[in-house]
Amino acid sequence: MTNWIGQQLKSKLFRKLFLSTFATTLLPLLVMTFFWLQSKGGARVPLFPEFFSVIVLALLLAGSVAFFLSKNITSPISDLTKSATEIARGNFQHEIKVESDDEIGRLGRLFNYMTTELRRLDKMNLAKIIAERNKTQTIIKNIADGVIVTDPQSRILILNAAAESWFDLRQEKAFDHPLREWIKEPTLLQLIQDAVKNRQTALSVAEITLKKRGDWKPRILQAKSARVQQESGDLIGIVTILRDITQQKEIDKMKTELVSMVAHELRSPLTSISGFSELMLDSDITRRQSTEYASIILKESNRLSELINKFLDISRIESGRIQPKMAELDLLETVQVVVGSNSYLADKKGIQVEVTAPEGLSPVWADGGMIEQVVLNLFSNAVKYSPENKRVDLMLRQTENEVILEVRDQGYGIPVKSLPRIFDKFYRVTDHEQVRNQTGTGLGLAMVKQIVELHGGRVEVESEENRGSVFSVFLPKLSANPGAGVSQPEDAEMIIR
Ligand code: ADP
Repeated sequence: MTNWIGQQLKSKLFRKLFLSTFATTLLPLLVMTFFWLQSKGGARVPLFPEFFSVIVLALLLAGSVAFFLSKNITSPISDLTKSATEIARGNFQHEIKVESDDEIGRLGRLFNYMTTELRRLDKMNLAKIIAERNKTQTIIKNIADGVIVTDPQSRILILNAAAESWFDLRQEKAFDHPLREWIKEPTLLQLIQDAVKNRQTALSVAEITLKKRGDWKPRILQAKSARVQQESGDLIGIVTILRDITQQKEIDKMKTELVSMVAHELRSPLTSISGFSELMLDSDITRRQSTEYASIILKESNRLSELINKFLDISRIESGRIQPKMAELDLLETVQVVVGSNSYLADKKGIQVEVTAPEGLSPVWADGGMIEQVVLNLFSNAVKYSPENKRVDLMLRQTENEVILEVRDQGYGIPVKSLPRIFDKFYRVTDHEQVRNQTGTGLGLAMVKQIVELHGGRVEVESEENRGSVFSVFLPKLSANPGAGVSQPEDAEMIIR
């Protein structure tokens, strides 16, 4: 009760009601008392006890009126004020007790209706916000690049799937922990630190080499950090994007190596050509010498043009600029045609050539011109890298899904250490004298591999030094090829001359 009285006394409305009732009751009471006293004892001066009683009566009257009005008006208003404060704080669960049926009661009911509506809207918005947040999180999670978001104190806020896998950690575990606790990469830590300190919003970039346990080669990542700041310029956090540039770096390295290899390979025939041309300009040389020099120049020029052509063919296949012109192909027929028109190579060395194939060999789905090049390269190598009077066998066989061509020779063989690099561009075996003396480009087997793989097949080699080699080409059967039968564009270019 005292609490209630204290509360009421604090209420401005209560105080106003009390004072105005007090004032309006006091004046008529005083007048009434004055006339009553006069009627009793003539013109007597009003006495203190009577006036004191009048004031107490006025106070009591004012108190009861104020209490009645306050109960019905002030309390609901203060309830409404409390509710409004709660709603302003975001608590939409608050409800007002409606006790009367008058205007105040109506206001209370309306207020409760408004809160219910706000609650409904709030739920809808919340669901929307949650859905939006989940969508954004899923997008960030699945970006192929790594994403690390840190706060201004470099504590981890977000790690996406790529970053989790590269740094071998989980966002749940690392959340809100200092980045340096989990990631020891100094370049990355420095980059993020620089972004925190540097007030400019321009991206800072760094390259990181990451070697994860179990990975056989390091991963090269390009990291870019950007500041995220409010309009006022206050820093909210740092977003770091990591891009895997390992492959790009490898390609760059390979390109540089290739350019220097090509330059080196082109230089040797060119040196011979220019040297012998110079010799031919000498007027003292004999007819025999001039014929000898001219034939060297011719041989070297042919080698040069073969080298350039093969190299161009390989790069065209590699870049995907030329697509094979696929058709049903009888591999036995292709082998016979190639061997038939190049048998002079074997005849010159007294090498016996035999082609064998099982009955009912399945056709393959392939580009005839390209496969002819494969067979020619393997057949001419088998002859070129064999001593005189040996034999070369071209054997065809088939499994459930593949047709296999084996080119078997009894030649010089390939050293074990050279086998892993035998299909590399420009790779030539230089240990064996007879092999070294043979002219070649070191591009034939690289091209064989390219073509066979382009057809969805593979090529394997087995070899023993001074015993011979077996090159096996595996091509998918026509029936096992999902793309078989699909007609090829009319203008599909044939790459092999
Ligand atoms: P090229 O014959 O023009 O040098 P290739 O790419 O066809 O280039 O062959 C690369 C190297 O592989 C050859 O230089 C040779 O050393 C080796 N080689 C290829 N085929 C055989 C084979 N049948 N027997 C022995 N060595 C071979």
